[in-house]
Parts: sequence; C-alpha cells; structure tokens
Amino acid sequence: MKGKVYLVGAGPGDYKLLTLKGLECIKKADVIVYDRLANSNYLKEAKLNCEFIYVGKASSNHVLPQDDINRVIADKAKEGKIVTRLKGGDPYVFGRGGEEGEVLVSEGIDFEVVPGITSAIGGLCYAGIPITHRDHASSFHVITGHLRDDDKENPEINWNALANTKGTLVFLMGVANLQKISENLIVEGKSKETPVALISWATRYNQRVITSTLEDVYETAIRENVKPPTLIAVGDVVGLREKLNFFENKPLFGKSIMVTRSRTQSSSLVEKIMDLGGNPIEVPTIKIDKIENNIELENEIKNIKDYTYLVLTSKNGVDIFFDKLDEMNLDSRALANLKVCAIGSATANEIKNRGIKADIIPQKFIAEYLFEELKPILKSSDKVLMPRAKNARDFLVDKIGEICEVKEIHTYETVVDPTRKEEVLDVLNQGETDYITFASSSTVRNFVEIIGKENLDKLENIKVISIGPVTTQTAKELNLKVYKEADVATIDGMISTIIKDS
Ligand code: SAH
Repeated sequence: MKGKVYLVGAGPGDYKLLTLKGLECIKKADVIVYDRLANSNYLKEAKLNCEFIYVGKASSNHVLPQDDINRVIADKAKEGKIVTRLKGGDPYVFGRGGEEGEVLVSEGIDFEVVPGITSAIGGLCYAGIPITHRDHASSFHVITGHLRDDDKENPEINWNALANTKGTLVFLMGVANLQKISENLIVEGKSKETPVALISWATRYNQRVITSTLEDVYETAIRENVKPPTLIAVGDVVGLREKLNFFENKPLFGKSIMVTRSRTQSSSLVEKIMDLGGNPIEVPTIKIDKIENNIELENEIKNIKDYTYLVLTSKNGVDIFFDKLDEMNLDSRALANLKVCAIGSATANEIKNRGIKADIIPQKFIAEYLFEELKPILKSSDKVLMPRAKNARDFLVDKIGEICEVKEIHTYETVVDPTRKEEVLDVLNQGETDYITFASSSTVRNFVEIIGKENLDKLENIKVISIGPVTTQTAKELNLKVYKEADVATIDGMISTIIKDS
C-alpha cells in the first residue's frame, strides 16, 4: 500500500467555502494534519477511525515547528496512509505549502495540491470589499506582513513600488507590524488618506471589520485591540464596503445558537443557521438506537394488507420503516392501499423522498392536530399501523384506539448521550451563546440530564427557544425558562422566531 499526501486549502473559515475536491480528501484521509485557521468542523466529515494531528497556532508560534510538521506528514505517508494536510485559505498563499511539497518530492512521496479560497480574496469579499474594481483598482498585491529583520540595503519588500501602485494592497500576518507597514507606505508617497480595512476572523460568524485611514490605522488598531488573524486591506476599494456588505447584513450574523437535537436530525437546522450567517453550536444530546432484528415490524409489514392507515411521526421513523421494506425486497407499492399520515413537514418530505406523497399532514405539527384531522374520517373498521420510537407519547395511540384498532410498533429508541457533559458545560461557561433551541420534549429532558440540574443557572443569560407547546411544557416542568415558542412548530418556525427577535 502506497501512501499519499493531499495539501488541501480549507478556505478562509465559512464552512461552505471548501472545494468539492477538498471535502473528498477529508473524507478519505487516514490522517488529517490541521492548524488553527482551518475550520475544525471539517473534521466531522472524516472517517470514523481517522487520526487528527493539530500542529499549530499563529504563524509566529507554531505548536510544532515547520520541520516537525514536514516530518509527521512524510512519516505518516510512508506508513502507507492517506494524509490530508488542511491549511487555512490556499496552501500556497503564505501557507508554507511549497516547502511541505518540496520535502515530499525529495522523499519520493506521492502528493497533490488542492487549491483553496485564500483569505486575501475571500476575506475581503465577505467584508464587502471587491479586491479589484474598474473604477478603483486594476491590480492587487498580496504581501506578507511578517517581515524578517529589515535590511535597509536589500529590503524584502519594495515599499516604493507598493506605495506607488494604484492596486489594492492586502497584508497577511501584518498586525504586529502595522505601524511599520503604514509608515513605510506613507514615507514612499502613498496618501495618508488612503482607506484601510482591518478584517479579523473573516468569513466567520465573529468577523470584525474596522476601517480607518493609512495615517490613523495603527492607533485605531491599538484602540480597538485588533488581534490576529487579521487582513489589512489598503486602497480605495475599501470604500465600497458600505454598499457591498452582504455578509454582515445576514439576519443571524454574529449570533451563536446552540442546537440540541439528535445527531442524525440536527443537520438541517445547523445548515440553516450557517447559511443565515450565524454560528451553530451543535450539541447532540440524544442518539438514535434502532431496534435490530425487528421481527414484530417484519410481521406487520407481511400483514400490511390488513391495515388502512400508516402513521409516521419522525424522519427516523420513516427511514427505519422504508429501509425495512427494502430489506424485505418490497417497495412503496406495498403501501398502495393505505392512507399515509406524516406528523410534520420534515417527516412528509422524507416520505416523499421514498416515493409517496403523504395523504394527511396536520396544520400544526403536533400529535393533537393530527388526531383532530383523523377523528372525523376514521371508522371503527379501520386499522392503523404506527411504527415509532419506544419512548414516544401515548396520546395518539390512546386516542386512535378509542375509535379503531391501532398497532404500535417500536422501531427505535432515543437514548441520552452522556459523553457530552464537559463539552456542553465548556460552551456554556464561555458565555458567548445567544440562543439555545429545543425541537422536542426529549431533547429538553436529555439536555437537563446531561448538564445536571445544578448547572441550569448557566442558562440564565441564554434565550431558550422551544419548537412548540409540548416542548415548552416539558421545559417548564424542568425549571427551564422558555424565552419564546415558535409560531409554527417546525425548524423554520424556530429560525424565524430567532430572526424576528434579533
Ligand atoms: N494560506 C492562508 C494564509 C496563511 S498566513 C490563506 O490563503 O488565506 C495566515 C494569515 O492569513 C493570518 O495572519 C491572517 O492575516 C490571514 N488570514 C487567514 N485566514 C483569515 C481569516 N479568516 N480572517 C482574517 N485573516 C485571515
């Protein structure tokens, strides 16, 4: 087995600013070597047994010196492993990717480079600054601000040339040398009034942009306590920020929202928060344990012709049911004589993905509303099949049972995932969370169980958003104050409640 190294540009930080090829390299890696500028959420895409090696902080104080990083990468590849070296931005823009490549070539190790969106361009873009513009800048120059000792006779950087170009100047790693940078440009003839933007944590929810002029920028940076990672953009294009600032104008920009759902269900909420500019903090409180070798389910599927209704109450329930059909060599045609009911739009969508349009989807996505719709149409001769979670509420089964025959089959169980306690408490202690969302009673219960009643006061300054009345009631019973309940009991309903609030 021959190893291989992929030097992958992880982009400037926004989760979706990664190439398809980069994602593929993450998914197939045996080892991922990463540093602080690469969004660490990508690691979730890795294989289960992938090894993660963290190699560094800011440019000047590597946790591992570059030689050691080179060594680790080469050695792992020589063991026959696929090594993905994740670097912020583009690997060849001040990422020392060239040096890593040279080492690999000299040791005869197979390697490939996957370019990434450099912060020099993408970071400016998210700050509302186009790096070129027909009216303002016909070129751009990306410069390291990490200056080696200045040799006056033989300077590393041609300040005179930079000062006299009309192009946009972008300095990376320049915060510590900001005074020197601005002075050198002014001395060589650049106007003191030239606009400058300092862009920190570009493309992330915590992006911060400060604008100034070349003359004042050093003082401004000190006053505003600007820290790396920061881009310094110099030029007239900075003035376009007021008009083109699409990112910071997103409805959830700057908001940190804790999402408590089961691992398998949280992705749509997490993705929506991200797309709206917010920072989703995912805490899976529960995991889904499918009931294996479900003979009971198989038996009822064999007898499916006896039923007149099928009620599915969750996306997991749908998946498990249809997977079982598939396993038994059946498909949606087996359900041709049934009316299919979905309790929510996500459930209905999942059913649709399996080729069936649900006949009944209640106005509000709670059991009570589904029952209201079923009550007038169910006859005593009907027979209802309900494959669902073991710990689900009794309401529907009881109520339907008063009218006709109903068969409940447990197909999965939601169980608490206690391994998350420290992680969740850490996030709460940082005090940066604005909202916490609960999309079901069980997530409330599980969340409280995981953090412990004694830690409930840590939620004091966090706005609790509940998906609907049942979840709110459960929260109340557990002494958790609900700040707002969604108008519509869906994920989108929760999102719009947060948007209206913020
Ligand atoms: N290869 C990277 C740059 C690595 S050098 C790229 O192409 O973007 C590290 C410097 O890049 C930081 O000191 C900072 O100046 C800049 N940088 C990288 N990502 C950034 C971000 N999200 N926000 C602000 N600056 C960033």
